[in-house]
Amino acid sequence: MSHLRLERLERRFPGTATPAVDGISLDLPQGALLALLGPSGCGKTTTLRMIAGLEAPDGGRILVAGRDVTPLPPHRRNMGVVFQSYALFPHLSAAANVSFGLEMRGVARAERAKRVADALALVGLADLSARKPRQLSGGQQQRVALARALAPQPDLLLLDEPLSALDAKLREEVRDEIRAVQQRLGTTTVFVTHDQTEALAMADLVAVMNRGRIEQLASPEEVFERPATRFVATFVGRATILAAEVIGEGLLRAGGVTLQAAETPAAGRVDVFIRPHHLRHLTPDAPAENVLEARVLRRIYTGDIITLECESAAGRLLAEMPGGTPGAAARPGDALRLGVDPADLRVFPA
Ligand code: ATP
Repeated sequence: MSHLRLERLERRFPGTATPAVDGISLDLPQGALLALLGPSGCGKTTTLRMIAGLEAPDGGRILVAGRDVTPLPPHRRNMGVVFQSYALFPHLSAAANVSFGLEMRGVARAERAKRVADALALVGLADLSARKPRQLSGGQQQRVALARALAPQPDLLLLDEPLSALDAKLREEVRDEIRAVQQRLGTTTVFVTHDQTEALAMADLVAVMNRGRIEQLASPEEVFERPATRFVATFVGRATILAAEVIGEGLLRAGGVTLQAAETPAAGRVDVFIRPHHLRHLTPDAPAENVLEARVLRRIYTGDIITLECESAAGRLLAEMPGGTPGAAARPGDALRLGVDPADLRVFPA
């Protein structure tokens, strides 16, 4: 059953030509984590702020557990919010910061103490509860902010780029912790990020946004393997893009090469997207539905994966070979036979 429902949610800022959020609808099941993913300015934060009640929509409705919360002020929505900046009270200890929201909600003292201890233990900060924010690292401060958001047992947890102030290593650590805590509590969560790795690693559902609209709403695997639009194909992950023409049902001509695709438009010029890991190394006599004869231009070693930049009659190709496999041994100048399944070609009108 849907726990959070957005119905044609809309926001137009006065004096702007295009809506910041242009009619967004979605259903999020109880306990799921939704990532709003998209480039700067696509409307992620505005969407989150409308859910939180910090921004009034110009149209549409927000329902939580079937209840219309659209007219309610933020403090009557029972939502926990974590922002990019930790926004902790500097003069209060970690425990007092977490306790503050509970006091505001009129939770009794004994119950408050228990909830504060539980929330800080949940984020691994039980031992540091007496510290002030300046005595805590960035990662620890963000954990306090998370504990503060979770202590009131919100119906919905809202996170706006909560990791962007942290350095790369810490970001991964806190990311995995947030996800673990969220899953343990089963709190339905909306997470705003422009970082695709973060979205793919954390989310049950990813909404890829562009210009105030959702271009695709699907699982991380689906978004990555089967991008629904050209925008999604280019924004999420890397891809080879070949200019081609439809020459028959499921048949394409790219440069001098004929390719089979599972789905193509009826006719016309198209762009063919191929994910680098979908290009397989073929031995000289291996049969394959699509064969691209290529020559290696550049070999980029990044440990587990070797990226090969190749040229072919169809155009430039980007291939990823798992380390230790025959394809990974290819060097600049080597000839390479690459195969790709028809189902792995994504074809969009040019
Ligand atoms: P970022 O990742 O940069 O925060 P975002 O996807 O969260 O981007 P929003 O902050 O939701 O995007 O902004 C969406 C659009 O609305 C942008 O074009 C932005 O300039 C505009 N916008 C946001 N807030 C206001 C405001 N208060 N007044 C006018 N325009 C605004």
